[in-house]
Amino acid sequence: MKFPIAFGLLLATPAFARAQQPIDSAYSARIRELTQVDPSGHWKYTTELVSTLPASATVPTPLKVLGYVPGTLSRLSYVAELNKYFDALAAAAPNRVKKFTLGKSDEGREMIIVAISDEANIAALDQNRLALGRLADPRALSAQDRAGLIKSTKPIYWLSGSIHSPETGSPEMLMELAYRLTVDESDFIKDIRSNVITLITPVTEVDGRDREVDVVKESQALKLGNNSIPLIYWGKYTAHDNNRDGMVMSQALTKNFIRGFLYWHPVVVHDLHESVPFLYTSTGTGPYNDEYDPIVVDEWHTLAYQEITELTRRGLPGVWTHGFYDGWAPNYTLLSVANLHNSIGRFYETYTSSGANCTTVRLPATDTARRWDRPNPPVNGIRWCIRSNINYQQSGALIALKYTADHRETFLENFVSKAERMIERGRTSAPYAFVIPRGQRHSAEAADLVNLFIAQGTEVNVALSDFTLKGPAISARRGTAADSAARRTLTDTALRREPSDPNARTIPADSAVRGRAPGAAPSRDSSLLVVRVHKGDWIVRLDQPYSATARTLLAIQHFKADDPPPYDDTGWTLDELRHVQTLKISDSDIFTKPMQHVGSAVIEGEVPASASLIVRHLGDWRSAALPWKLAASGASVSVLEAPVSFGGTSYPAGSYLISGANETARTAIRALGLKAVAGSTNARQHAIKVPRIALMHSWLETQNEGWVRYALDQMGVPYTYISDQSLRTPGTLDRFDVVFFPHVNGSPNSLVNGRPMVGPAIPWKKSALTPNLDLWDQTDDIRPGMGLDGAAALRHFVERGGLLITTGNSSVLPITLGFNPSVSVTTTTKLNARGSVMRAQPAPGASASPILYGYDSPSFPVYFSQAPVLSVIPRDTVVVENRDPSLAQQAERMRAKTILRFHDKADSLLVSGLLAGGEELAGKAAVVDAPVGAGHVVLFGIRPMWRWESQGSFALPLNAMANWDHLAF
Ligand SMILES: [Zn+2]
Repeated sequence: MKFPIAFGLLLATPAFARAQQPIDSAYSARIRELTQVDPSGHWKYTTELVSTLPASATVPTPLKVLGYVPGTLSRLSYVAELNKYFDALAAAAPNRVKKFTLGKSDEGREMIIVAISDEANIAALDQNRLALGRLADPRALSAQDRAGLIKSTKPIYWLSGSIHSPETGSPEMLMELAYRLTVDESDFIKDIRSNVITLITPVTEVDGRDREVDVVKESQALKLGNNSIPLIYWGKYTAHDNNRDGMVMSQALTKNFIRGFLYWHPVVVHDLHESVPFLYTSTGTGPYNDEYDPIVVDEWHTLAYQEITELTRRGLPGVWTHGFYDGWAPNYTLLSVANLHNSIGRFYETYTSSGANCTTVRLPATDTARRWDRPNPPVNGIRWCIRSNINYQQSGALIALKYTADHRETFLENFVSKAERMIERGRTSAPYAFVIPRGQRHSAEAADLVNLFIAQGTEVNVALSDFTLKGPAISARRGTAADSAARRTLTDTALRREPSDPNARTIPADSAVRGRAPGAAPSRDSSLLVVRVHKGDWIVRLDQPYSATARTLLAIQHFKADDPPPYDDTGWTLDELRHVQTLKISDSDIFTKPMQHVGSAVIEGEVPASASLIVRHLGDWRSAALPWKLAASGASVSVLEAPVSFGGTSYPAGSYLISGANETARTAIRALGLKAVAGSTNARQHAIKVPRIALMHSWLETQNEGWVRYALDQMGVPYTYISDQSLRTPGTLDRFDVVFFPHVNGSPNSLVNGRPMVGPAIPWKKSALTPNLDLWDQTDDIRPGMGLDGAAALRHFVERGGLLITTGNSSVLPITLGFNPSVSVTTTTKLNARGSVMRAQPAPGASASPILYGYDSPSFPVYFSQAPVLSVIPRDTVVVENRDPSLAQQAERMRAKTILRFHDKADSLLVSGLLAGGEELAGKAAVVDAPVGAGHVVLFGIRPMWRWESQGSFALPLNAMANWDHLAF
């Protein structure tokens, strides 16, 4: 069905008069040239809002500063050029424009934020910001002040461009929009200027932007057309996942954004993306995250339908909402943070133009069909250029800004109401608080979690004395799904000690569980349900405006198999993934207990002044990273190969015996938050020889190894960064003991052979044309993989005694190549486990494996996403008469061994997220140790270092690496 033609034609004259302001005729002519016209006259690809540009005698346009009009083919601006334009704009119109720094990226480029409003609002910018802060935290706000502030305050609408670097149009558009908002004297723009403060961050991923401009230029030089060079590296560590960092705040761009968010208190955050045709404005399919206030869900729809109505009436095809994404995972760096902080987080997806090009639209019927939720679908056959993308984005943004201006008080009323509702919910319904015990097993990791909450703007207190509270009689609020945190059962809530072990029957002596004797089983007996809070324990009260982040990070997620397909992870319960204990408090008396606000959480280790030390391995990354931290100190490090009792305390296998410890060594142990005791023992042990590690990447993609690289850098584990292509050079691996090859997307064929060898060589290399491609690796041609020679080199490396570690999809490679034929990948047909938290168990007989050093609980949570499901052929138990027994021993030595397996009961498998068909996963291998010659391949079916979320399993690969020459057990 076609859209009525007349709607497009009726709007040939501008709907909003320009009050006699002259047009910049040269610039406007250029806009006209760049804007595509539908020869049939059916459709328009611009609106009267952006089809011309007003002239200014004093304020320069992008054309004047940079020499081109945004939307010019083959022309994109580097970060320095964009910043130069905004400097010129702010200098020429200081009464309407103010530019600020937002901080430096991971590679040192500057992120900026530009405020645009009328003279009065800019003069009162700080006063307005503080007023928004009072509305954002209304705990001390009188009814009179509240009403006054809603009348006098201007909402902040923050537009952010290009967090995703190959999505190139938004930084260009935002320059022109900034100019227009500054100089246009039409009533339409004047309304925006006087009622809204627009913040603009032209580029969020500044490092990736400069690389993208480089590869677009190089693609043009190589005449690759719209098939541009793939952007291998975006930011220092992350690629597309740079907007999956909103929960854990690992990357500089995330930290800068959240700091800016907490400073400015924007009422709307609008993130500009590009992918699907022609303008998708976000609402999503659901299921929406349980912690989002119903008001914000309505606000998404309100703004989206405004844009759809206004742009459709102006004759633009393909403006739609619903669909595209779910709204479940709260990890989207900009929008989720806004939605969890009582603001509005939203995004566009406009149709990309492959760099700065034109393309003829050829969409599948699924994209062009009229549907109930998309009555004005995209159309085929038209010419789509970067200017079309800019026209759509800019027109939509102007309509959203105008609507916000026209309904300023409603948005502010919602803004303060959402904060009040969050406070009230925590004040009047359980849970009332989370307590994070300081004295727990992984106390330093617990402190990290507390610091994450603080960085998210959540207030944290410490208990000033010991006190007790009534136990966790939690019930879901009226049985609704509104409070996912309240849906945990008693046995896995406040009295959890070992995260997620439903069968736990013993509690370690250092247990932080209070009100339950060590060794007691979890119980529903209410007489035992007393929560003892100790002086120094951290308390996150939920009667505060910014408590939703803590709520969702500590909630158990229930994603149903018949929900719409998930867009990203379905489970992320962070205390589980990080093996940290938290207590959910159902007794409102906690509000009356003595506590004090803290600005940070610190755990100091305890180390006596002795040269000989014993340090317990706690099954965490801090314990596992100890050998690397001590490597430079001159101390010798050995590990116990079996449990030992010392000084009346039992130390598990993997605990460290350190000799020759000097103050440098003791300081390193203390900094990790670990406890040492003086002493030594002759019990069975082996010396740790810190390995020479090669972290290997493929040129297919670097995103997933980037997260591992980030984790190793954070933990202080040094490595040499190599590409799979380097394996083609004989002897490359001679200088390494460990090759760590993290998950790479792709078939085994592409992992070996790389990309198709079609056309010219595609370099990723610094040159005069591409000055930003020097970090982190370079090649003359990204297409070849390791090749069969490289695969053989990898095998020889293992055979001569090396350790190869693979995770996720990379584990399929050594299996396909038959490095050890006793391990295989199992095909699943019913399993549905997209990005979930699962329970894993040490495999029977494997608890002595060095990979499990410190992991002494019967089960623990790990992150897993769908595949690969690994299997090991069972031990040969057939008795063959008259066979040389050494043959059986030899076969057993060569057999791969399951070290960690998924919980063997399907109904105990899921901790958080989505799981269906769990019987196909129950009992299957999660980590396999496969001997090959004198060495080992350790294959992870799970992703042990997932997005700076799964710290609880970081020690598994670290243990394997530290004990690379002693993996047999
Ligand atoms: Zn995107």
